[in-house]
Amino acid sequence: MTDEETKYDAVIVGAGVSGLFMFYKLKNMGLSVLVIEKSDELGGTWNWNRYPGARCDIPSLEYSYQFDEELQQEWSWSEKYSAGPEILEYLNHVADKFDLKDYINFEEEVIQAKFNEDSCLWSVSTNKQKYVTKFCIFATGCLSIPNKPEIPGLESFEGELLHTATWPREEQNFRGKNVAIIGTGSSSIQTIPEIAKDVKNLYVFQRTPNYSIPSNNGPMDKDVEAQVKGRYSEFRKENSLNGFGLASLSDEALISESDLEEVISQFEENWNTSGLAFFGGYADIPVDVDSNEVAANFVRNKIKEIVSDEETAEKLCPKYHIGGKRLCVDTGYFQTFNRENVHLIDLHASPIENVNSNSIEADQDYEIDILILATGFDAMTGALTSLDILGRNEVNLKDQWKEGAKSYLGLGVSNFPNLFTITGPGSPSVLSNMMPSIEQHVNWIADCIGWMSENNKSVIESTKTAEDEWMELVNEIADMTIFTSTQSWYNGSNIEDKAKAFLPFIGVPVYTEKLEEITAAEYQGFIFDKSN
Ligand code: NAP
Repeated sequence: MTDEETKYDAVIVGAGVSGLFMFYKLKNMGLSVLVIEKSDELGGTWNWNRYPGARCDIPSLEYSYQFDEELQQEWSWSEKYSAGPEILEYLNHVADKFDLKDYINFEEEVIQAKFNEDSCLWSVSTNKQKYVTKFCIFATGCLSIPNKPEIPGLESFEGELLHTATWPREEQNFRGKNVAIIGTGSSSIQTIPEIAKDVKNLYVFQRTPNYSIPSNNGPMDKDVEAQVKGRYSEFRKENSLNGFGLASLSDEALISESDLEEVISQFEENWNTSGLAFFGGYADIPVDVDSNEVAANFVRNKIKEIVSDEETAEKLCPKYHIGGKRLCVDTGYFQTFNRENVHLIDLHASPIENVNSNSIEADQDYEIDILILATGFDAMTGALTSLDILGRNEVNLKDQWKEGAKSYLGLGVSNFPNLFTITGPGSPSVLSNMMPSIEQHVNWIADCIGWMSENNKSVIESTKTAEDEWMELVNEIADMTIFTSTQSWYNGSNIEDKAKAFLPFIGVPVYTEKLEEITAAEYQGFIFDKSN
């Protein structure tokens, strides 16, 4: 077999939530499609992040596919917020139901994708072979490349080193062990209460505290499930009109125009019912710093009520605007710090001096058996810039994005014809319910490919002007909010040497409206069949 014998209409990279649905769509259009997946299992995020406590913080009745009515009716979630293994079970059910598994090349890693300007085809090279394809679709996720920061002495650690984003399949035995965890983002906040139950000591190394809202998780309320299933399409439609694409709290009321006592009493109710949606409890929390401070202070007071040691409580209280870093949702996180075996180390006061073979040196030497990195991801761009993606004139995507990622609608990039990204930079993605945002992009890509075929177009590419103007709009909107006020992975601040640029588009309904307008205007901002 020669190198370039295997030719496809489309190659999809990744078999997570987006790759699976993209494959389903294109397969049903009769295209020849290959899915390439690095792991030996499908599931993306839910396959890799198997740490104890991993759970979706969007209610599962919303964090699920809507493309097939039978699927949404037949599947039942056991809890309001499903745990990782149940979501994996669901994704496997979807793959089995629609006969997707046999067409996925597992344990194969894409290394390079290169556009050939003469043939207008992509060559995709993996660790195993090379494929040729007309369309190259990256379904590689927004949070898939783990951030492994330089920590002095880390390489000399001789105990077990784990990362929440590449958690081993085998159950880890923490019983009676001394365990350290570095990082206090969503992953850490979910896993700490679980791990604390078993360990001798848990040392939590915190650089920046996070706001977290109780999930108020519990068994699925069968009445709520029946009610949603009775009107699923309307329910989804309603959610798509919310700024973050979520159901429940999306109150139009403003803190700035409300009575403070009433606001606090409303917050009490939201705290006991809402999880992530707490942020939508009043419309001005994301945009008005004074109103934001009222919400932030409410959460700080809750932390101080829950955590008995005053000094620890103070260290756990974030000082930045609530929502500036991704809001967390927990099950008993702050309560865990009342356990005698859990110790908080504030890295601002006592930075890590060194990691030794069996200890971490900070304000004192902490002897440990296991070290967990819960240090997050090279978000939104990492999965693309970690590969060699070569477009026109062999320009490498990672070079084109050196000063900051630019994409048109989060779907296409200039100089990279016939390449699509699902939930790429410049789309609501991580600032929305990922499931419907993924479905929106997959449907759009499939429709676009169908339209191209009907209209005898073979190559689509976004223009640089459209891309520049789009990213200006992304930043203009973000600058009206508190999201740009804090160092976070939304703007690349968590990765050394990464260009600082705010990447998600804020506002699902506005995004949808613009996407529909652009599409109706025959894909305004894209050009077709550009001659080289
Ligand atoms: P993250 O939010 O980026 O948190 C990483 C943590 O590591 C932060 O506390 C960060 O501190 C710390 N850190 C990074 N480098 C460090 C260093 N050199 N020294 C000390 N501390 C360091 O990552 P994550 O918790 O994995 O979550 C990422 C995102 O994944 C979430 O925001 C969420 O969108 C998603 N997620 C979702 C769910 C869910 O739906 N259930 C669960 C988990 C994750 P700084 O803040 O100071 O940088």
